[in-house]
Amino acid sequence: MRELLRENIANLTPYSCARNDFTGEAEVFLDANENWQDFVGKPDANRYPDPLATQLRKALQDVLGLAMSKTVIGNGSDELIDNLMRCFCRPGKDSVLLLPPTYGAYRVFADINDVTVHTVPLTPSFAIDIPGLTKFLEQEKLNRNENGRVKLLFICSPNNPTGNAFDRSVIEQVCSLFDGITVVDEAYYDFSNKESAVSLLENYPNLVVLRTLSKCWALASARVGIAIASEEIIAVLRSMKYPYNVGSPSQDLALHALSQAHQVQKGLALIKAERERMERALSQLDCVRTVFPSDANFFLVRVGNALAVYRYLLDRGIIVRNRSKELHCENCLRITIGSREENDRLLAELSSYKEEQDA
Ligand code: PMP
Repeated sequence: MRELLRENIANLTPYSCARNDFTGEAEVFLDANENWQDFVGKPDANRYPDPLATQLRKALQDVLGLAMSKTVIGNGSDELIDNLMRCFCRPGKDSVLLLPPTYGAYRVFADINDVTVHTVPLTPSFAIDIPGLTKFLEQEKLNRNENGRVKLLFICSPNNPTGNAFDRSVIEQVCSLFDGITVVDEAYYDFSNKESAVSLLENYPNLVVLRTLSKCWALASARVGIAIASEEIIAVLRSMKYPYNVGSPSQDLALHALSQAHQVQKGLALIKAERERMERALSQLDCVRTVFPSDANFFLVRVGNALAVYRYLLDRGIIVRNRSKELHCENCLRITIGSREENDRLLAELSSYKEEQDA
């Protein structure tokens, strides 16, 4: 890991915030230039949040079994993706490897950080192309030099926008092929029956697993993402993040949600039941060519003319995502599984859709 890190990050003296310096008990806090007054009726709104989100990480350990020493909380997993690039990739020199079609933000963050993107596409049936990846990585090893190399490889499982999860054995194969940092984005993990990559951390110290409370935990507004990795990588991610990256109201919301784990499990069962129902119902529609099997809370659906269907739904107040421009996703829409009522509305509108309208 050390030799993959950017030198400036390895040598960083992290910002030391007031609350980091002090660990004991006190009654008078005059250390952080806060304002003692309360204008919003929330007693602690005037205080900076816990930079390490300690209570939240303890709850994640208790509820999800994620060891506290191996987690860092991000402002959504998006922040963690960006921070990983900033830790490891020297702008204008190093690169990342993506397996498209995949989550679009990886490329955007790479572009923002002036980090080159290499790709090894998934196969047309959305599997990881192990022979293609092996070949790419062999070649990359020959080409790398002090002016740059592939530092990070992103695997999204279940994958956005295709919806399929990869077997843990395949992810393990990738970890053993790649000598950089493998990032497994498990944003949609809860919806899948496949095993998590977290258990691979023991044998693969250069693995980072990302989770989020935005999906199964229904807390997209709070912006709470989780990176799980070796203590060494976690120490680096903690050292370079914005000190107060997740506000107290978000940490509180996350704690509250984690205390409702039983309800969340019930909610998850509802989504899975709707997923089964929607897979059948969507497949029966005239305008639908293929419903790709999903391990997530959305479907990739191939229709005759995606743009026409997208606009038709938009005119009727229903927004889906047109993913037609993604590799292997010609005429595909990505449709989130909503409430039963929302799904019924979608089905009703789609069943009235006439293909001749396409023209
Ligand atoms: N990873 C994947 C695969 C996603 O689809 C998303 C959001 N759509 C994210 C990460 C970001 O999630 P958040 O920042 O809300 O944690």
